[in-house]
Amino acid sequence: MADCIFCSIISGDMKGDIVFENDTVVAFRDINPQAPVHILVVPRKHIATLNDLTPEDASIISETVLAAKKLAADEGVAEDGYRLVWNCNRGAGQTVFHIHLHLLGGRTFGWPPG
Ligand code: 5GP
Ligand code: ZN
Repeated sequence: MADCIFCSIISGDMKGDIVFENDTVVAFRDINPQAPVHILVVPRKHIATLNDLTPEDASIISETVLAAKKLAADEGVAEDGYRLVWNCNRGAGQTVFHIHLHLLGGRTFGWPPG
């Protein structure tokens, strides 16, 4: 998708600190980390928001979560705990309109979130 930052990172047109990739997802470190570990797990398919998901995307979503789980272990935060966040639309803080799963770890997190 033209003018999408994450499509540009996925295609290699823009630089990203990529930590994992497979046929379905690409994962790279967030440019403005909110925790010692802050990785974005991004489906290769351009889907603007979670509201645009269809049942055909079910395997993409499960692969995204499984990649985050593997990365949490690789980054050494699985045992202490980590947070996975999907922001949907501006009211929830979404700023990049290509769905992505935040993997946050390496510190404690409050609940409920702010
Ligand atoms: P959102 O607010 O949409 O849930 O999350 C978007 C995330 O993308 C933010 O945490 C932001 O720091 C990150 N981000 C925005 N632009 C770039 C970029 O060019 N490279 C990387 N690695 N992260 C980005
Ligand atoms: Zn995109």
